[in-house]
Amino acid sequence: MADQLLRATAAEGGIRAVGVVTTHLVQEARQRHGLSYVATAALGRTMTAGLLLASSMKRTEARVNIRVRGNGPLGSLLVDAGRDGTVRGYVENPGVELPPNEKGKLDVGGAVGAEGYLYVVRDNGYGYPYCSTVGLVSGEIGDDLTAYLVASEQTPSALVLGVYLQAGEVHAAGGLLVQVLPKAARDEALVALLEERVASLQGFTPQLRAGRQLGDIIQGVLGDLGLEWLAETQLVRFHCGCTMDRVLGAIKILGETEIRSMLVEDNGAEVTCHFCGQVYQAGPDHLEQLLLDFQTSAGQS
Ligand SMILES: [Zn+2]
Repeated sequence: MADQLLRATAAEGGIRAVGVVTTHLVQEARQRHGLSYVATAALGRTMTAGLLLASSMKRTEARVNIRVRGNGPLGSLLVDAGRDGTVRGYVENPGVELPPNEKGKLDVGGAVGAEGYLYVVRDNGYGYPYCSTVGLVSGEIGDDLTAYLVASEQTPSALVLGVYLQAGEVHAAGGLLVQVLPKAARDEALVALLEERVASLQGFTPQLRAGRQLGDIIQGVLGDLGLEWLAETQLVRFHCGCTMDRVLGAIKILGETEIRSMLVEDNGAEVTCHFCGQVYQAGPDHLEQLLLDFQTSAGQS
């Protein structure tokens, strides 16, 4: 199944549901960054969550950034996801591997660490971005983001995230977010029913591995509650907006002295984009042009 996102409402607009399949894009992140198994699961869950959170924003240029900073060996994770269906992200220590946890699963909580913070920035594409921070609950990502949704957005939410690896490849990845919107949030029976339904899913990736389509999985959770599809299926993908021009802009910020020493000592500069792993070679011509820009702007002032 292609990576895709599907949105729906139920209970006469009182419930919002969004599901996403991210198998290929998580595999791409694994290859680009050389992620270990546990790093693939941690970043894959966070990328999946980023797409789910971004899906509720209105403008196509809107983006959500999620930073997870725990006390575990993986270090920080950063994900940037857009309403347009693009996502990118990286882990500070991508090669860290841990033995399975006591349930025999990838120990994401141990790798991320249960102590630390989760930062979410929602940028609508205009005005100031909306930032909020919550303490980590378990470092398993799903629990931590559910706590964020309840605390910061005050929306009763059920979130399932999953990444399943087999023989070194991402075999299935995706997630489901079901929220009770403010107009129905006082309906305790509805909130309890949803929590029960999502818990009964027993994870998201087993459904995908059983060959179920994304629409069928959502139908299975909300089908008897007046489910209505919101729009066409949206394709989602790993994408980074880095370019040589942006890399040169970043080098320019280092200043004239630093650029001159790069030119003299290394005859160029090699820059790797954190987000996607793309390597850029800035040659002597590029650096000389930057130095020329400094002289031109100095001459003008
Ligand atoms: Zn990049």
